[in-house]
Amino acid sequence: MPRRCTVCAHPKVEAIDMALVAGEPYRSVANRYESLSQAAVQRHSENHLPATLAQAKDAEMVAHADDLLEQVRDLQVRTFAILEAAEVSEQHRTALSAIREARGNLELLAKLLGELGDRPTVNVLISPEWLELRTVIVGALEPYTHARGAVLRAIEGAGNGSA
Ligand SMILES: [Zn+2]
Repeated sequence: MPRRCTVCAHPKVEAIDMALVAGEPYRSVANRYESLSQAAVQRHSENHLPATLAQAKDAEMVAHADDLLEQVRDLQVRTFAILEAAEVSEQHRTALSAIREARGNLELLAKLLGELGDRPTVNVLISPEWLELRTVIVGALEPYTHARGAVLRAIEGAGNGSA
């Protein structure tokens, strides 16, 4: 079993990594934390820090994308509410605008989902929002055969991530 890195095992490893990333000298970092030797800090910085940084960047990107995803989903829910209201009051122009917005949201969602990779929890094509919206779109565009075909083709493309 390889020798444990005293820095990786240190409870303050995140603060130590931040100090190293900020360019603080190994000696200074080692002096701040009693149990660490300068050699251990240097070894950690050269051998372990790059991987940690790469992971942190990935995690940050995923967190960022997750946050955006939430916002787009929120937008989609609101757009969907407008679409429903417009449909009920037979405001076709408003309904069509809402559908365009919903389509834009779906394109954004598809892009974000692409960023997030193929995580199983976020398949847009089987998400309840999508299935519900799809049903409403098909219904709302019933009288407009040409528009319906165009919109459906467009959102299918977005859903497949190929728009
Ligand atoms: Zn280490």
